[in-house]
Amino acid sequence: MNRVAFSSLALLFLLAFTAACSPVARESDGPTASEGERLAMKNEKPPVAAGQKLSASGHDITPWTAAQKEARIGDLEPLERAVTCDAGTERAFTGKYWNSKAEGVYHCVICDLPLFNSGTKFDSGTGWPSFFQPFDREHVDEHSDESHGMVRTEVRCQRCSAHLGHVFEDGPRPTGLRYCMNSAALSFTPKK
Ligand SMILES: [Zn+2]
Repeated sequence: MNRVAFSSLALLFLLAFTAACSPVARESDGPTASEGERLAMKNEKPPVAAGQKLSASGHDITPWTAAQKEARIGDLEPLERAVTCDAGTERAFTGKYWNSKAEGVYHCVICDLPLFNSGTKFDSGTGWPSFFQPFDREHVDEHSDESHGMVRTEVRCQRCSAHLGHVFEDGPRPTGLRYCMNSAALSFTPKK
């Protein structure tokens, strides 16, 4: 056997060995890698779900990011924006819902979270839609507001932090509360 023939044989053997090894190596690596990916995916899911927050009534009240809110604010009417984003107040007796008796659910105009049921609406005589309790206590965020020389309790949407109005302790039974809302912060879904 001459030197060239020997080299060719050696090369062929090497190629055959490599070719034979490669699929075996891939087969043994393949399932391990994909199993690892599956495990990684499994490990990633719980923290995402854990970050979600559900209310007692089963609604997602995970706080919206600034980007999520910004995407919806662009669709708002100027008054809706002034009320929800700048804590404005619509003029009494001018809103869409102050005198509405329709049955249904009032939602947040920005994020659509259900906020008040028509069954808890009452005629407060104020010219603003008034309710004696929220749809779900966890859907509204209440905190002290000392603007305009008054101490009031501001009500915001729990999910997107839209300003909705104020709550006062001069409402009817059974709660004694008066959630004084702005129509411009609400959207209404009639009962089917
Ligand atoms: Zn909202």
